[in-house]
Formats: sequence, structure tokens, C-alpha cells
Amino acid sequence: MPTNIASRLAATERGNNNDQARRHNLSTMLGILHRHGMQTRAELTRRTGLNRSTIGALVGELVALGLVNEASTPQTAVDAPAAGRPAGRSAGRPSPTVKVRESVAAIAVNPDTDAVTIGLIGLGGAVLGRVRRPTATIPSAAEVVSMVVEAAQAMAAEISELQIIAVGAAVPGLVNTSTGTVAFAPHLGWRNEEFADALESALGVDAAVGNDANLGAIAEGLYGAGRGAADFVYLNGSTSGIGGGVFSAGHPLFGAHGYGAELGHTRVNASGRACHCGRTGCFETEVNIRRLLAPIELRSVDLDELDAVLRGPHSSRLRPEVTRQLDVIAEKIVDFISIFDPELVILGGHLGSLYDVAASYLDSWHASMSFASLERTVTIKRAQLGPNLLLIGAAEIAFARLLADPSSIASLEILA
Ligand SMILES: [Zn+2]
Repeated sequence: MPTNIASRLAATERGNNNDQARRHNLSTMLGILHRHGMQTRAELTRRTGLNRSTIGALVGELVALGLVNEASTPQTAVDAPAAGRPAGRSAGRPSPTVKVRESVAAIAVNPDTDAVTIGLIGLGGAVLGRVRRPTATIPSAAEVVSMVVEAAQAMAAEISELQIIAVGAAVPGLVNTSTGTVAFAPHLGWRNEEFADALESALGVDAAVGNDANLGAIAEGLYGAGRGAADFVYLNGSTSGIGGGVFSAGHPLFGAHGYGAELGHTRVNASGRACHCGRTGCFETEVNIRRLLAPIELRSVDLDELDAVLRGPHSSRLRPEVTRQLDVIAEKIVDFISIFDPELVILGGHLGSLYDVAASYLDSWHASMSFASLERTVTIKRAQLGPNLLLIGAAEIAFARLLADPSSIASLEILA
């Protein structure tokens, strides 16, 4: 019966196309709500170009999947009539608002040499919980995994209706993002650690692992200082050195093997100190928290506290080292501006703290060293997401599968 077979095939093809379009639209809608916050149905209609009934059906599906909530709104959120036109019948009619359910969350992990930070991040980038667990020694991958299990259980017990869908980790090292293997994390001493697999089997949810600075750049680009910028350089200073992330034409620059933008390992001082990476005089051997705090014999501080330390009673003893590190940072910024031509340079972690105590010093240094007319439009900004930055970035890769295909949540094991 060729006709029937042909019509059945045609029907199947139409079904697939519709299904693909529906999944694409669901992904677009959830992406908008995740990145831009609460929207009215009318705003979603305008942003997506889809018609009202399609938006209504998609919102209904996202509500049924447990990913968004919908509520009627006060009069201020009505679908305003177009400018210059008289208010029609729709004026004053409330357009329901749609918002992601923040209790749909990812566990986020950032292991460092002196502490492991673990967070619960809801859809939309909401920080539901964060704990920093100092460690006496540099933690192994297995130790990090058991700390994550314990901390996630403790945090989850405090939050009602929590649905943990995935775990994401921001690791200071070279990470194969497709396998989740940490190829080499010099400061942690990890080599070829199958970290995503270990997290997945301990927690029973999908795991994704990325380089800390790349994830920090993604987080700042989405929710922080880089919001709206297509070309920016991001530099983050932590106890694990300096990580770099570069966005070019709106896309992260990963390089041929995913190991690109290791800006912390560009050379500053040919006769400098040996670096963990095997070279000498890297940017991060010249500019780091340990050297910054050495004059006051402090080994490490939470980044929350660093600003206060730099401005506190020890500030005069710290000043020569602060100035030396700022000079190196300025020199590297000038180099990176020449290489990447960014509109913005974002400084995170301890680099952000240094910038905060001497913004005008760094701004004028960079301005005087730059090709004046060419680089006048480059702005330096401090990262805005503070201690939550890397956790938000880690959660972003954990959410990637759900954002790409929201209906996949139905097949995920959800931990209450
Ligand atoms: Zn190095």
C-alpha cells in the first residue's frame, strides 16, 4: 500500500518538524526567561515574534514541566498600546507574567588550593546557597566529590521544593569540556582526573566541568559587567593563579583544543620565578594573592574579605606590593588590548580588589600606554558577580542541556 506508507511518512515528517519547532521554541523561551528575568506574555510575544496563542501554549508547557511559574500582574505590567495610538480595548488588560522557577537548581562547585566552594544555583542565576569549606591541604578530586555530596545535602535540606537537575564545576586548569576530564590542574596537582564522571556517580545527576576563567567570563557576560558586550577580555585572580577568558564577536574563544585564553601564563619577566606550568616569569607568578599578602604574613583570605584587608590598618605595609602588581596588570592589559581589541576588560577575584583600591591609577596607566586614538574606547570594569561568579558560571554549563531542550527534564531523575 504505497500511498498509505507515503502519507504515513509524510505525517511523521510533519510531526517531527513540528516537534523540532516546538522544542526550539521552548528552548528559546526558557533561555529568555533564564537570562533576562521575569517577562510578561506580551514581552515574550514581542521578543520571539511568535503569536499570542503559540506563546500561551509554550508557557503552558513550561509550567507543566515545572520550569516556570505564571501569575497575573498589577496594572503597571499591562501590554501598553503603541506610542501615538489611542488606547484600545487591550489597554489596562493585564498581561500575565512568566518567571523561571528558581527551585529548579544546579549544584555548582569550585575547588581551589585552600578551599572548596559549593553552591546551589537556581534557574535565572539565583544563588540559593553557598558554602566555602577551607581545606588544610590541597584537596584531591575524590575529597572534593565527598565535600560536594555533604554540602549539597545540607543546603538542599534548607530549601523546599528543590529540584536538583545537574552539577557543574569550575576548575582552575585545562579541562576537556566534552568529556569533563581535567587534563591538568597545576595548582591542584590533578592530572587526567575524570571529574565529571566522579561527580555524576556520586550525585546521580548530569555533570559538566569547565575551566574556571572561561566559566567566569560566561557568567560576567550573561549577568555581570560584560552584559551586552560582544568583545571583552576577562581576567580573574584566585589562589590558583590568574585565569583568562576572551569573548570575541559574542563567542568565547576556546582555541583548537579548548585550552585557549590562558592569559595567566603569558610571560612578564624572563628572569622571574618558576611557574607551575613549567615556564618562568608568567603573569600569575608576578601577580598573585600570596605575594600580595606576604608583607602581612597572611596566607589566604576569602575574596569577600580582601577589599577590607587592602583598605584596613595594614594598607600602608601592603602599598608597595599593591603598586608593583598594578603595574604588571596594566602592562598586560595593554598587551591584551593590542591582541584582542576588546571594548571592555573585566577584572575579577583579587584583580578586581586591586582595581577597586586604585581604579584611577590603572585607568591612567592604561590610557598613557595605549595607542591613544585607537584604544580610547576600552573600558576597565571590576567583575560584578563577586564571590558567586564562578558558581554561576559552573551552573550555566550544568543548565546547558535543560536550556537546549527543556522537555528533557521529564526524563531526568530529579532529587527532591
Ligand atoms: Zn605559567
